[in-house]
Formats: sequence, structure tokens, C-alpha cells
Amino acid sequence: MSDTIKELSERLTYKKKSVFEKKTESERADMMAFAEDYKAWLDASKTEREATDTMIEILGNAGFKPYALGDKVKAGDKLYYNNRGKNLFAITVGEEPIENGVRICASHIDSPRLDLKQIPLFEKEGIGYFKTHYYGGIRKYQWATIPLALHGVVTKADGTTVKVTIGEDAGDPVLCISDLLPHLAMEQSQKKLSEAFPGESLNIIVCTSPVIDEGEPVTDEGVKLNILSMLNEKYGIIEEDFLSAELTAVPAGKTVDVGLDRWLVGGYGHDDRCCAYTSLRAILKIAEEKNFTHTNIVAFADKEETGSNGVSGMKSAILMDIIASLAQNFGVDASVVRSRSICLSADVAAAYDPNYPEPFEKKNAAILHCGVSVCKFTGSRGKSGTNDTSAEYVGFVRKIFDDANVVWQLSELGKVDAGGGGTVAMYISENNIDTIDIGVPVVSMHSPFELISKADLYEAYEAFAAFCR
Ligand code: MN
Ligand code: MN
Repeated sequence: MSDTIKELSERLTYKKKSVFEKKTESERADMMAFAEDYKAWLDASKTEREATDTMIEILGNAGFKPYALGDKVKAGDKLYYNNRGKNLFAITVGEEPIENGVRICASHIDSPRLDLKQIPLFEKEGIGYFKTHYYGGIRKYQWATIPLALHGVVTKADGTTVKVTIGEDAGDPVLCISDLLPHLAMEQSQKKLSEAFPGESLNIIVCTSPVIDEGEPVTDEGVKLNILSMLNEKYGIIEEDFLSAELTAVPAGKTVDVGLDRWLVGGYGHDDRCCAYTSLRAILKIAEEKNFTHTNIVAFADKEETGSNGVSGMKSAILMDIIASLAQNFGVDASVVRSRSICLSADVAAAYDPNYPEPFEKKNAAILHCGVSVCKFTGSRGKSGTNDTSAEYVGFVRKIFDDANVVWQLSELGKVDAGGGGTVAMYISENNIDTIDIGVPVVSMHSPFELISKADLYEAYEAFAAFCR
């Protein structure tokens, strides 16, 4: 027994450490540089469609080829599967026999936002509005009085689809939802936060002037007609075309550094495109280095924020169909491949916020700059709806990350009874695939301006690369 108490403490106790303690100056410089690439990509990828497009371009440039179910594949192939332009899979086929399982990283590329209703246009007392139906969990008051941009597609009567983007280019006008002035908000201020901003009040100001025909009186729906006339000129669409449109309002503008030291990135849609981008970069890196033995599938899902339903959500059969198609290619039963496959459910974690400490239990909360966060379980109350992975699988990924010198931490969402939430983990594990949650801690999650640490972002990238190798 020769340990001093200090040595004993260092040997036996666990303490989270930040990248400022664990990484070198040059490693920290890599983190800063990586974040610049991420910011540029995020600004060009504000919807699941845009993220799919930009990622296909990046994958194509790196030599990844389109894959269709049933295609012949061989070790060394680099592929991607595009599911309806909203859900994407990047695949590297390894040397290791597929019966030993595949490795999956599954993130999502949809984010909370304000979708336009299918009959969105109305005019009230000289102002033309879009009616909206929010998508995902938002705190509604956060979406008023900020510049909004319109993104999406419109499929016209002739079956052609036109892309719409308004409010992002320099000089573009933006759109906005108004709010009351505090002087006259006495009544509104007495209401509960959950009731003060009804969903039906999230109407977006689009236009405030009517079509003008010199000498003629302004018509009843002159403002609405003015909007339609401008949209028709730019996109060739008519009001009925909104019926077959997916248009969405998102925060306008670009991602920026936050804090004098620039260690935070502020912007829209970190949840969960920070995990999408880092896992994309991870598979690109291991593909470029030809440094992978097993087969990897990096999935970018849609519809996570609304429950993972729908053809492009993680409950869709497509991921299992891809596994089955790859298995069949090698003459192996898909159930065997699934039983030995493992998955990282890559989704953001709630970062502890000293300004709002109440709902957190700090010891088990994700701390900014302490690395990518692993969650053994999600769910609410008594772990309801949880994937709750096994100690053995936590131990397995723990070893992978430690061996690769990844800075990581373990966390859960908040205090036991404070609330709850889930990820796509359960929809993957129910297919007999060991799955664990891991992601970048986020401050102000689901707000129009979420914050993440550049260090945690980079460690997510390192973790995904270590897992895919
Ligand atoms: Mn998420
Ligand atoms: Mn979310």
C-alpha cells in the first residue's frame, strides 16, 4: 500500500474533464477549423431535403456511388442510398464477412420549424399572411419577432416540382411573426406560457401592399393577390399549388460564433444536423483512409422530431431492407446480420445550463466542452419508452472511445421527474440490434438559435470515426 491519498483518488474516482484539460493546443486548433466547415454546411442545409442534397454532393465528390436495393456489391465499395430526397444512407462495404454484423450510425436531419398549412394564404386588414402548423416541439414564443426564411418545394398541377428559397441571399427580404408591445401586453402576460401563444396565432407576415391598377379601386383581396402575383412571376405557381407543397419557415441567416473566445456555435438546426455532419465526415474519413474492416451504414433520417413515422422516418423499413439487401448479396440471412450488428443512435443531448439549473441533475448532466455525450437510456419518468442499452454494450463503446482518445461523457436528459424524450434508438434496437444514444450537448435545444461547443462537435466526429473503423 504505497498510494498517497491523492494517488488513490486519481486511480479510483471518476471526474469529467473538459477538452481544455485533455487536448493539446494543436488538437484544439483542429476543432476550431472543423467547426468552420460545419457552419458552412449547416447554412446550406436548413431542411432534410437540403441536407440530403448537400450530403449527396459531398459523397459523390468522394467517390460514393448511388445504391439500389438488390445491387451487386463487393468489399471496398462506397455507396449511398437516397430515400425520396429526405433520408439518406452512406455505406462502406468492408472486408469482414457480413455475417459478423454491420455498424450503424443513425442521426436525423429534420429540425423543429414552422410548416406552412396546405391552404396558407389569407389577408386581414391590409396584411397578407401565411398560416403555419408547427413541426416538432417548439416553444412558440421563441419564433415571433425573428427574421424567418421560407424553404421548400412546390409540386405544380403538371407534376413538375419547383424549389423555393426566400430570405437567405444577401438583399433578400425576410418574413416575420409579430408580437405585442409590452405596454399593451398586460392581459397576455398574465397567461400561462403554454397558452399565451396558440399555434393558430403563428401567422407569418408576407406582404403589406395590394396589387395596384392605376385609377382602379383597391380590391378586397388585393394584398393576397399581390403575393400570388409575385410568387407566380418568380416560381410559376398559383394558389392551388400550395395543396401539393412542402414549404417551411426557418430562422433566416447564418450560423455564427458565440462568446469572445469563439468556442460556441450558435445557429438553427444543430439538433440533429451536428450529429449528421460529424457522422458524414467520419465515414468520409475512414473511406478516404481505406481504414475500415466491417461494413458501415451511416443513416440520416427524417421525421425524428414528429415521432419517426412516415416513409422517410426511422420506423420505415428501408434501413432493414438495406441490411437485408447487403446480406442477400453475400448469401447470408438478414436476421444473422442484424443479430450481430451494433448501432450508435446519434442524437443531441441536453447540455447543463447554469442559468436554468432547476430541471438538471448536474452530476448526470452533459457539460459543455466535456466531449460527446453518451446516454445509456432516454425516456421519461420510470424510463418509460427507453431503449436502455446493456452494461456490456456501454462497456464495448467505452473501450472503443478510450482507445481512440475520444473525450466523452455520460449523461441523462434531466432530473428524474423533470420531463423526458426519446430518439430513434428504440426503432433500431427493436430489430435485434444493440443500440446506444450518443450526441453533442446542446444549449437552448429546439430554439431558433441553438448553441453547441466546437470541442464537443469535434469529439463526436472522432467518436463516430472510431466506431466505424
Ligand atoms: Mn434530435
Ligand atoms: Mn429534437
